[in-house]
Amino acid sequence: MKRVYNFSAGPSMLPLSVLEKAQKDLVCYGDSGMSVMEMSHRSADYDVIIKEAEALLREIMEIPDNYKVLFLQGGASTQFAAVPLNLMNKNGKADYVLSGQFSTKAFKEAQKYGDVVAAASSKDINFSAIPATTRESFRADADYVHVCYNNTIYGTKFPAVPDTGDIPLVADMSSCIISEPVDVSRFGMIYAGAQKNMAPAGLTIVIVREDLIGNARDITPAMLDYKLMAEGESMYNTPPCWCIYVAKLVYEWIKELGGLAEMKKLNEKKAAVLYDYLDSQDYYIAPVEKESRSMMNVTFVTGDADLDKKFAKEASDAGLKNLKGHRSVGGMRASIYNAMPYEGVEALVEFMKKFAAENPKGEN
Ligand SMILES: *Cc1c(COP(=O)(O)O)cnc(C)c1O
Repeated sequence: MKRVYNFSAGPSMLPLSVLEKAQKDLVCYGDSGMSVMEMSHRSADYDVIIKEAEALLREIMEIPDNYKVLFLQGGASTQFAAVPLNLMNKNGKADYVLSGQFSTKAFKEAQKYGDVVAAASSKDINFSAIPATTRESFRADADYVHVCYNNTIYGTKFPAVPDTGDIPLVADMSSCIISEPVDVSRFGMIYAGAQKNMAPAGLTIVIVREDLIGNARDITPAMLDYKLMAEGESMYNTPPCWCIYVAKLVYEWIKELGGLAEMKKLNEKKAAVLYDYLDSQDYYIAPVEKESRSMMNVTFVTGDADLDKKFAKEASDAGLKNLKGHRSVGGMRASIYNAMPYEGVEALVEFMKKFAAENPKGEN
């Protein structure tokens, strides 16, 4: 069976070479005589895998030594509670930037634990841009500022790291992590569900500055306490062993193709094909303001819900899968993560041209 171009927002495409390597090792890993799926997480073989995974992620992201890297479970959504439990520990205050659904969910979860306010929001423009902030937008005594760096549903991304002065910045990077270099030292913490750009669902990455951990509230569940997780080297309990193994293969793939600088070039090239086409015509509308455009999730509409539906169906029949927009916003969304080949985006643009020619507006 032929593989399709899968534009799913998550879980999403993995590099074919990674899937093939995983397949090759599936039944017998090295000379262990067993699958990674069957291995004790405390075995010598597995110890090498998880240590290499961490070392590779540190290398490709250039993570400074004073940051812990944790391999956790529960998805990014569990971090919506873990962040306030661990970090809202000095003044009991945190400021959130509302730029879409996930940041709003994170905000509501954090409100259970303290004095949490929305420092800025773009809800009034249907989240079609990242709200502008300055240092003055945030309360000087906030324990942290939370942002969602790339908004998977709306297709927006922060054009630059927001300036929060001395307040630690916490970023949900679920849908843009390892898509380009970031200066980790600008952040107090970065977290991401792995199923968008890294690995199968089940793994959550937390990168947290050491001085921010160790002050979790007394009521913090052990599984959400960064200090316990760091002391246990992500093995307080059984980690998502197989997902970590696949993540390691993905990090190797990125390293081999030249690291995140090269990854960024490839992603920019892909996104440009789509955005340049969108900007060159008026059949499709790209609702996101240009400076807030995401390189990973590209949203567009025809302006006619029936045509949008027809588009998604016919694209699917043509092997371009999962282009229907999120159920809450409609339209179309092409998620073009690291593993989406350039040819997939080219094929999408060709399909868009054909569809526009075949379906003139106002005549259907
Ligand atoms: C997908 C996604 C989430 C939710 O992730 P889960 O791992 O399903 O909890 C949160 N934030 C962003 C930015 C996402 O893209």
